[in-house]
Amino acid sequence: MVNNLNIINVNQKIVIIANWKCNPSTEREAENLLREIKKGIKKIRNTEVIIVPPFVYLPVVRDKILLKSKEGIWKVGAQNCFWENSGAFTGEISPLMLKELGVEYVILGHSERRIYFGETDEVIAKKLKVILENKLSPILCIGETKEGREEKKIEKVLKRQLKEILSPISRFSLPTSDLVIAYEPIWAIGTGDFCSPDEAKKALLFIKKELIEILPRYLSQNIRIIYGGSVDSENAKNYINIGFKGLLIGGASLIPQEFIKIVNSCNLQ
Ligand code: PEP
Repeated sequence: MVNNLNIINVNQKIVIIANWKCNPSTEREAENLLREIKKGIKKIRNTEVIIVPPFVYLPVVRDKILLKSKEGIWKVGAQNCFWENSGAFTGEISPLMLKELGVEYVILGHSERRIYFGETDEVIAKKLKVILENKLSPILCIGETKEGREEKKIEKVLKRQLKEILSPISRFSLPTSDLVIAYEPIWAIGTGDFCSPDEAKKALLFIKKELIEILPRYLSQNIRIIYGGSVDSENAKNYINIGFKGLLIGGASLIPQEFIKIVNSCNLQ
């Protein structure tokens, strides 16, 4: 029997993820944005930066910018993928295609996918399965809505999401790629109303406890749990200080000077 302890890819570097969402509007702007960001981020030690552009900019991000990087800190991610590798599914992009493009990470279950495109935990679990089969690394987003902000409800939502999405994976195969879980309270995304470090820490500890119950211990301990929701250069390092292993950043990742400050402040922790 294969010893999973030997094949899991343990990665405990701080990870800063730039989710560009449906921005910018042209390839030239995407190139310029990344060039600006790269100019300001030097001498990174224990930090990885994952750029997650819209699908159409993946080749340019990979070819023109990331592959030229000598440091191994730059990675490319995708914002979504389909749950099959190929077939009659008009408009979909499969994990196999992303892998072929050099993508290593895939955001999964982002609240904007859940809200605007009706993605359920069941759909997300199907996507997780095929992402792991392709040895890609998921960045699984979980978090409560504004209505669910009360502590007991937060725990109930996180428990349900983790159980429904992660429990099935032990039934088919245990992952050998990196796993990242992003705690993203939905009310904090894109609103400027970030989650206080004290509240976020409660969620972090709760997620850790739940992971131990759902997954084998060696696996749960190697999952990086990160925070996302209105992160800026002022509040970023607070989340790293309380034990998050990284940040998922939307709005601020489109402003080079702001994103650079965030990465540099976390790198100094
Ligand atoms: C996100 O898109 O996941 C996000 C956290 O966005 P923002 O940083 O803008 O709140």
